[in-house]
Amino acid sequence: KKIATDMKSLTRQVEQFARKKKIEIETLQVREAYRKEFLGNISHELKTPLFTVQGYIDTLIDGAHKDKVIRKKYLDRAQKGVERLTYIVNDMDMITKLEVGDLSLDKERFDIVALISQVFEQFEMKSARKKISLVFDLDYKEPIYVYADKERIQQVIANLVVNSIKYGKENGTTEIAVEDLINNKVIIRVTDNGEGIKSEFIPRLFERFFRVDRTGSRKEGGSGLGLAIVKHIVEAHDERIYVDSELGIGSEFSFTLEKASSRVEDIDVEVEKD
Ligand code: ADP
Repeated sequence: KKIATDMKSLTRQVEQFARKKKIEIETLQVREAYRKEFLGNISHELKTPLFTVQGYIDTLIDGAHKDKVIRKKYLDRAQKGVERLTYIVNDMDMITKLEVGDLSLDKERFDIVALISQVFEQFEMKSARKKISLVFDLDYKEPIYVYADKERIQQVIANLVVNSIKYGKENGTTEIAVEDLINNKVIIRVTDNGEGIKSEFIPRLFERFFRVDRTGSRKEGGSGLGLAIVKHIVEAHDERIYVDSELGIGSEFSFTLEKASSRVEDIDVEVEKD
């Protein structure tokens, strides 16, 4: 009887072990498929600008360099292509670090209103080219202190503003608002009245390399990683990102941040400074 019980227990253990191994293998298979897809996407994304640059250089070598005007034009275009390659590679580097959890946050207390103004200045030219007005919807430009990784949050805002310009319509508006929430949080909203997004695509927006319109988006530049990076950074802060969009009407991307005033140590710092 004892042998029978032991056998049963042993069988259960073997079954458990097999189940565990099966799950581990399945996880590895999923990861491997993911890795392959990622590498496939990377080479696909890099090929277009690489071919463009190569095309201009070949044409120059083949004789186009003799014409001063054409030479300048093609060199400018080749340079744009190299710039594009650089930021795609930078975005890939960033997403890889974020995905393997290799990017530690350097949180500090800073004024989110000043940071938004800075991002707006950064994109003044880009928005002017499309006659898009950047509007900061705030009654008083008084500082609002948050506690977060300033550099990363700057990137989040920059990516959202860039998208609102890229997918915004000529003569349109990009508006940013900062609102207080309960629980010592603020919400930052980036709203445009651009092309909007079909509801069926909304759940996929934050996937890396996902684009609603592949040809259209590529014309506008970008790596297809902007929103994936945004989501990672916001979630690394234990905060949330939301999208509200309607095709042909516009989109609103918003995310929450922790207010610095909720932290006693930060209030102390402020008192010391004063
Ligand atoms: P990219 O802009 O480089 O293609 P993103 O990850 O930033 O990559 O955005 C993914 C896709 O989401 C875009 O290609 C576009 O189709 C859609 N999208 C993002 N922001 C907006 C917006 N403000 N309005 C409309 N579509 C948007």
